[in-house]
Amino acid sequence: MIEITVDEDACVGCGLCVKDCPMKVFELKENHSFPKRPENCMACLSCHEICPAQALEHKGIYAAKRHYIDIRVCEMLNRVI
Ligand code: SF4
Ligand code: SF4
Repeated sequence: MIEITVDEDACVGCGLCVKDCPMKVFELKENHSFPKRPENCMACLSCHEICPAQALEHKGIYAAKRHYIDIRVCEMLNRVI
């Protein structure tokens, strides 16, 4: 089980994680990101790479690297899983 936390003190509300996450895990609320659909996370850790504030933490997955290249591939995967 992946547990996602957002450090609200660090988050600057840029929305990059909301746009970048292929699984639509995050939403913005009151100028902070929050994991609305953590159960959708596929552990790509793309959001870690893109967050300028290093405000995101994922527990329950091993360190990985960005493993998606094309958002269309992710959207296709999203439809079948
Ligand atoms: S690790 Fe990937 S799927 Fe999970 S929240 Fe971050 S960008 Fe989304
Ligand atoms: S990318 Fe980082 S700073 Fe920007 S909204 Fe997401 S958690 Fe906050």
